[in-house]
Amino acid sequence: MPLFPDPRVAVATLHGKAAALAPALVPLGLELLAVAVDTDALGTFSGEVERPGPAREVVIEKARRGMAASGLRLGIATEASFGPDPLVGFLPFHHELLAFVDEFHGQVLVLESGGRDTNWQSLAVATPAAAEPLLLACGFPEHAVLVRPNAGPPGLPVAKGLRDRGAVAAAIAAAAAHSADGQARIETDMRAHMNPMRMRRIAALGHQLAERLRSPCPACGAPGFGLHATLPGLPCAQCGTPTDLARAERHACAACGHAEERPRADGRREADPGHCPECNP
Ligand SMILES: [Zn+2]
Ligand SMILES: [Zn+2]
Repeated sequence: MPLFPDPRVAVATLHGKAAALAPALVPLGLELLAVAVDTDALGTFSGEVERPGPAREVVIEKARRGMAASGLRLGIATEASFGPDPLVGFLPFHHELLAFVDEFHGQVLVLESGGRDTNWQSLAVATPAAAEPLLLACGFPEHAVLVRPNAGPPGLPVAKGLRDRGAVAAAIAAAAAHSADGQARIETDMRAHMNPMRMRRIAALGHQLAERLRSPCPACGAPGFGLHATLPGLPCAQCGTPTDLARAERHACAACGHAEERPRADGRREADPGHCPECNP
């Protein structure tokens, strides 16, 4: 039996993400249709449009816009953020969200993936020569870069999708001339079609979604039953005190709300005393 009465999914994108998702989702019988939606109106990496809300709401809204534009009842969108690592601070970190909106079962799934395998970098430079280390480190020209004035009011011009050293040099000269401090800011262009590393993370999210959709809800049968939260309290191996580590997993259905508690997927029953508030305060 097909998972959905109509297998067509609107993938809201200007940037060709449907191809990255297809290998995971086509085997489930889904048909991915790229729908051109001006998602830049929902915020851009280069800072010309400020994002209207938390990334989670933005990615769901993107998926819904693709559905509205195409009249389809399934929708997918992805949304990325890049910045310093939340734990380590100075290392770049990539966080990608994928929203799957399913009007047939009345559910929204939001999956996420994050990691340090990103080439996100940003540097203030006064001359093209100063940009060379960034170009060498980020995988240019396979990965594109963008250039904008380093200082000044929002709305100054941004040169995007640069894959040619001559164009980069010209953009740096122009941006430095516009900037209050005489410097240009050069950054890796993180739009998916300019960034093969980001495409790989989107493909991995496609596989996460496929795995989720293969699992039907035991109560209502809707596809997408899966990990919703982890429950802390794994007992200390030495004294049995609950620790902050996950004790169990909560699996839930976003369509009917049915939930089940399951043991940790890795089978661990006890925490190392190093994590215990009593043994290792
Ligand atoms: Zn259910
Ligand atoms: Zn203990």
